[in-house]
Amino acid sequence: MDKKHEDKLEVEIREHSDADFFPDECPSCGCKEINRKTYKIRIIQDLGTPTICRRIRYEKVTFICTNCNTTFSITHPLIPPRTSFMPGVIKYATLRILKEGDSIRRVTKDLNELHNVEVSVSEVKLWVDKVGKRGDLNVDFSNEDPPEDFSGFISIDGTFKAATTKKNALKTGKHQEKRK
Ligand SMILES: [Zn+2]
Repeated sequence: MDKKHEDKLEVEIREHSDADFFPDECPSCGCKEINRKTYKIRIIQDLGTPTICRRIRYEKVTFICTNCNTTFSITHPLIPPRTSFMPGVIKYATLRILKEGDSIRRVTKDLNELHNVEVSVSEVKLWVDKVGKRGDLNVDFSNEDPPEDFSGFISIDGTFKAATTKKNALKTGKHQEKRK
């Protein structure tokens, strides 16, 4: 194997399009004659490795009904609206911070340097605030006991499960599986 390839960054692009979920009928009049009207490309970052940069090329399509001229769009099942990051990136970061107790700065650095995700500390902090429903998490609380009123929550597959910090993870890890 050519050694040059080992240092080379591979860019892996997956393509998703609303056209893969082409609507059956017009939401307004029920007519089945639907056409594409316009589209917009969004590039969304996914979790890579030190040698693979992963990006999603998402085609957001506006459809038009040929009968009543209503324009409409659909919700793609895999693409979250209004974000440049795939859910797995945000889940990875918030799990490490809220469950494993890693610092926001450390996780941000790892995302940038080890996973080829371009993100700032303040953006990661926003994810933690949103997922943890807590606006005052310490930037680094890995060496502290969890506060009495710790109320971090992690969204897993649409359900909410209580987050544990590193010290409690061993004791309560099994309970998490049972919650629904
Ligand atoms: Zn129509």
